[in-house]
Amino acid sequence: MTAAAVISGLREVVLVGGGHSHALVVRLLARNPWPRAQVTLVSDVPHAPYSGMIPGHLAGFYSRAECHIDLRRLCDQAGVRFVGARATGLDLTGGRVLLENHPPLPFAAASLNIGSTPSVHNVPGAAEYAIPAKPVPRFLKAWENLRALAASRPIRALIVGAGAGGVEVALAMKARLGPALTLTLVHQGDTILPTHAAGVRRRLLAALHREGVIVATGQPVTSVRADGVILRDGQHLPADTIFWTTQASAPPWIQASGLAADPSGFIAVDAALRSLSHPHVFAAGDCATVTGNVRPKSGVFAVRAAQPLFDNLGRHLAGTPTQPWHPQKNFLSLIGTGRGRAVASRGPWAAEGVWVWHWKDRIDRAFMNQFTDLRTPPPADT
Ligand SMILES: Cc1cc2nc3c(=O)[nH]c(=O)nc-3n(C[C@H](O)[C@H](O)[C@H](O)COP(=O)(O)OP(=O)(O)OC[C@H]3O[C@@H](n4cnc5c(N)ncnc54)[C@H](O)[C@@H]3O)c2cc1C
Repeated sequence: MTAAAVISGLREVVLVGGGHSHALVVRLLARNPWPRAQVTLVSDVPHAPYSGMIPGHLAGFYSRAECHIDLRRLCDQAGVRFVGARATGLDLTGGRVLLENHPPLPFAAASLNIGSTPSVHNVPGAAEYAIPAKPVPRFLKAWENLRALAASRPIRALIVGAGAGGVEVALAMKARLGPALTLTLVHQGDTILPTHAAGVRRRLLAALHREGVIVATGQPVTSVRADGVILRDGQHLPADTIFWTTQASAPPWIQASGLAADPSGFIAVDAALRSLSHPHVFAAGDCATVTGNVRPKSGVFAVRAAQPLFDNLGRHLAGTPTQPWHPQKNFLSLIGTGRGRAVASRGPWAAEGVWVWHWKDRIDRAFMNQFTDLRTPPPADT
């Protein structure tokens, strides 16, 4: 711990990134502050997107404000200092978080919850011409441009990657823009949604067909150009806009900082969410991989990690032993189909209907409500 990290007897705790886990940690701090700690949240955006509602926003069900957490206000209510800046690295020897256009922040303990982005660096042209689904602000800007364009002429768009995110975004976009949009969903594997049960795949494939989304499976995109993509067999799929919703990749500065990482570059943490190499640094959500207990990069786990992260950071500050977290194996996914219906998926189980959408809507709104009124009890587990 550096001298600078202990200010007037208070230990500096820096939470880097306002993802789902940290937003919930700040909420928990409002009721149970860590003793003798000065907590700072660093975020590159003042309003953090809640990805569960972003497809619903594309489809026109939610306003932008309804699917974003006002981090500054949340921090004000919880007595946490908010710093609006982008973290660029960690000085682990000096105990400082390095920031863009802002002096470094000293820390006695730090936690990272900075998410992930769809991997654009393994396909030539993707970084230049494709719009990844994250960071969300850039993605939503591209979507607004597309909508404006569709008001004046027919347009063609591609979505590359047909996991749950890609499928849900495709259905939402098509439901919103209708015949003005010719939309193709491209997937390298033989089947969409490879990690979901057959019943889920069947229902969502039927929804894509009903909506008129063209589904192109079985061929990877080998390059991306300004006017579309090239598939492995040389076929050119033309498009005005190309969205990228492929596998999550890690922020590159994690490894450069010297934190232990898994083979894909995500922060390697133990079951207590502590870095394997630097036990005063914690991490949760997409940017972390729990060694020996790997789970999909999904918002569900970022949410579930919040309580153990809060507890273990508190234990670390108090000098008491941390406790392991055992994330569940099966989890519920509710995937909107863009027209007030949704598909539920949990292990081998699948269901579809208007009631599933209402269920999803209730869960998502309850999640967001807890940040506007900190007295609201947290939603029940699903
Ligand atoms: C379109 C789409 C729909 C999805 N729908 C679902 C769903 O319904 N259910 C589900 O479980 N999962 C869903 N996912 C996956 C989900 O988005 C992620 O798993 C989840 O957001 C991870 O949460 P997180 O807290 O780790 O990070 P994030 O929610 O990504 O938050 C990270 C935060 O850190 C900030 N940040 C990043 N880098 C820095 C930096 N250098 N400095 C400061 N701040 C930084 C970002 O701005 C962001 O606010 C979806 C993904 C997509 C793309």
